Amino acid sequence: EKMGSSLLKRLELETELRHAIERGQLELHFQPEIDLATNRIVAAEALVRWNHPEFGAVSPNTFIPLAEETGLILEIGLWVLREAVRSTVRWLEEMPGLDLTVSVNLSVRQYLHPGIVDDVASVLRETGIDAHRLRLEITETILMDDKASSRAVLQQLNSLGIQLAIDDFGSGYSNLGYLKRLPVQTLKIDQIFIKGLAHDRHDSAIVAAITNLAHQIGLRVTAEGVESIEQMEKVRAIGCDFAQGYFFARPMSGS
Ligand code: C2E
Ligand code: MG
Ligand code: MG
Repeated sequence: EKMGSSLLKRLELETELRHAIERGQLELHFQPEIDLATNRIVAAEALVRWNHPEFGAVSPNTFIPLAEETGLILEIGLWVLREAVRSTVRWLEEMPGLDLTVSVNLSVRQYLHPGIVDDVASVLRETGIDAHRLRLEITETILMDDKASSRAVLQQLNSLGIQLAIDDFGSGYSNLGYLKRLPVQTLKIDQIFIKGLAHDRHDSAIVAAITNLAHQIGLRVTAEGVESIEQMEKVRAIGCDFAQGYFFARPMSGS
């Protein structure tokens, strides 16, 4: 009975998700990334929200995996990319002197989609954003498929002039070999390691080791999920370049 009802719920969610874009139920929130050397906002990560009239706010941790399985992520992901870049272009126009990068999460399914490079190129073209202001966040899972064809996609994305970051670094596949072969500029250290920073010496050791490694090979590091002043001071002392988390700001509506 339980299985039946959770299956039903899933089917219902899936059916509803199919209409979410056209019904205007998706919304983007943005969370700032702070430069720890200057305390200035240097980037904003776009995080998608689904407001359903009946189910309420559905977490991306629930509907993104569903969107991945059903392939709906292609449509949703493109919507997110376009909206995130449009908003950024608007802010850059409204606030002369603003120096802002926009980070957009790219799912595995999107990355494997043959049209991905063309999609990104057309969003750059139609919005007119400077390509270096767009950063795509990919996860380590994408890199597990360490084939030449898969690397080629990253090279092509990189040659559009955009930036690439590895999201949730340290939580997944740990073949570090890819770091030297891929055109990635930033590592975002998974929040799991930031959580224990103030009291767990293993977590500090891990964050310090990742930061050192990244710096040695010319990458920059963002600490994700910084919630307290202790954690902020710790990541700054370790030498992380950027930080993001509730301590600075929660994700917020872009309008
Ligand atoms: P992520 O890309 O690693 O995003 C960071 C998540 O951590 C966000 O959750 C954010 O709200 C949350 N967060 C930020 N600061 C803190 C903090 O100080 N403490 C805690 N506990 N959490 C913090 P959110 O928005 O629920 O998104 C969850 C995940 O869903 C994202 O993880 C990302 O993997 C996925 N996601 C969200 N939007 C998109 C999207 O547009 N496309 C794709 N493919 N995935 C998305
Ligand atoms: Mg992310
Ligand atoms: Mg993350």
